[in-house]
Amino acid sequence: MTNRLSISDLGYRYGDRVALDGVSFSVAEGRFCALLGPNGAGKSTLFALLTRLFVPHSGRIEIAGIDLARAPRAALARLGVVFQQPTLDLDLTVRRNLLYFAALHGLSGRASALRVDAALDLLGVRDRAGDRARDLSGGQRRRVEIARALVHEPRLLLLDEPTVGLDAASRRSITDHVHDLAAGGLTVLWATHLVDEIRPGDDVVILHRGRVLAAAQAAAIAGAGTLLARFLELTGEGTA
Ligand code: ADP
Repeated sequence: MTNRLSISDLGYRYGDRVALDGVSFSVAEGRFCALLGPNGAGKSTLFALLTRLFVPHSGRIEIAGIDLARAPRAALARLGVVFQQPTLDLDLTVRRNLLYFAALHGLSGRASALRVDAALDLLGVRDRAGDRARDLSGGQRRRVEIARALVHEPRLLLLDEPTVGLDAASRRSITDHVHDLAAGGLTVLWATHLVDEIRPGDDVVILHRGRVLAAAQAAAIAGAGTLLARFLELTGEGTA
């Protein structure tokens, strides 16, 4: 199956501090891949490299088969991103937030309006399209941000700890929606430090201190035990 994301031998340092050290993994089309690591593992640094906020010191990134260093615009056009920090304009309506984003991607007119409504539909928030973002709950705002990341129809969706600060019901709703997107063919890379967001059929990359400790389907990593037990064993972060 085609890989929608391929990362090979990626390295990044902040001064003398190594944040990513020889990171290699790939995510196949239509897979939900959890990038699982404790705080400080390097998840945000990896996302900064994938979105070209930072340039890697070594290694290579391909998005939908396009080399990010050689053809950044074409590669980034295939990427949707939900950052950890909320970025909606709270004074605008939900629809206006998405239309504005669509315009940044060169979309306008009827095609843009249709895509915005379709994306809001996918995340179950179309009925809130005319409301100001400020009037939505935290969980609904997150779903709107995910919808916004889909407006330009990316092949790969990155989410950086998207459930931080949300209640259990909202977290569940968001993980369900994003798993549905993957089941529909979208490729997803979901950064988290929470094992309970991961399902047995998901792919998992365990990142720890800038290195990949395991990359396989969750059930395979868990083996006869649990994913949490294996994660703690691999990272030495405690005992299960
Ligand atoms: P995560 O997102 O998994 O919590 P980060 O990518 O934020 O991990 O951090 C990876 C490593 O890089 C950590 O050791 C962290 O302290 C270090 N780091 C992150 N950002 C900076 C920075 N701006 N300056 C120096 N070190 C940093």
